[in-house]
Amino acid sequence: MSDVLALDLSALKSAGIRALLLDIDNTLLPRDTSVFPPEFVDWLGGLPDAGLSAYLVSNNWHDHIFDRAAEVGLPIVAKALKPLPFGFLRAARALGLRMRQCAVVGDQVFTDVLGGNLAGATTVLVEPLSTSDLPHTLVLRRVERVIMAGRRPVAREAGAGEG
Ligand SMILES: [Mg+2]
Repeated sequence: MSDVLALDLSALKSAGIRALLLDIDNTLLPRDTSVFPPEFVDWLGGLPDAGLSAYLVSNNWHDHIFDRAAEVGLPIVAKALKPLPFGFLRAARALGLRMRQCAVVGDQVFTDVLGGNLAGATTVLVEPLSTSDLPHTLVLRRVERVIMAGRRPVAREAGAGEG
């Protein structure tokens, strides 16, 4: 696994994906900082050229998360309560897209990937940017490691294998 910079945008586009629903914390923004790495800002800025829209979908409930979204000029659903699917559905609706045209990108199995799957999106798991997580996240990470042992999940396409 790796970070968002390693995403194959043209492959996603070819698979019918029109928008990325992006997690923020530890996916685009390392913990304990409020500054996006410049290479991620550039990457976000290049998404329209790749034919992809972007929407931030975050469980973060702090007011500053709206400032972060404004800094990169992207719309946001905050307090999304992932893995509940409603935040993803709201973002897709705002973009005028079906869920199967969206790829959820995030660093956590139990919020981003599970929630994206529940919503009917393609999901992409990336490596967390920081290892210093909140305590409750650390517990989930241990569970994730058990579940993910021997697997390298990268992307799952909604409806794959159903013809
Ligand atoms: Mg995250």
